[in-house]
Amino acid sequence: MCGAVRFTARDVPATYGICHCEMCRRWTGVALVAATVPQAGVSWEGAEHIARLQSSDWAERAWCKSCGTGLYYHVTTPGPMSGNIEIPIGLFDTTEGMALSGEIYIDHKIPSLGFTGNHSRLTRKEVLKQFGIADDFDTPDDGE
Ligand SMILES: [Zn+2]
Repeated sequence: MCGAVRFTARDVPATYGICHCEMCRRWTGVALVAATVPQAGVSWEGAEHIARLQSSDWAERAWCKSCGTGLYYHVTTPGPMSGNIEIPIGLFDTTEGMALSGEIYIDHKIPSLGFTGNHSRLTRKEVLKQFGIADDFDTPDDGE
């Protein structure tokens, strides 16, 4: 927002996803609407203005120290996701042609919020199963 941090990204996919988990909801104020981008293809300008927080055992979130704009979500545990970062689509100069591929934690969505279209909608249970994470906790606070 303030311009202290800028980036260019290669290999930006034509699709993006939405996460409605409790942490994304609180972090963004609504839901995380982001594209999965290979970290190696992103170069940052003003990187000294980037703040990071290990927000869970497996992921960190980054934002601009100067204005607070959320910059990315990153899975830090080794695995297929750790080479990517999730960049909110509002940060790109253009989102023309980008399509919504799916929503996760659909059962944690703000009830009056709705995204139309024929994309996948996975519940928290389905997401945990997909990533092979045991669903042995059951509070509404344990998102990503
Ligand atoms: Zn989330």
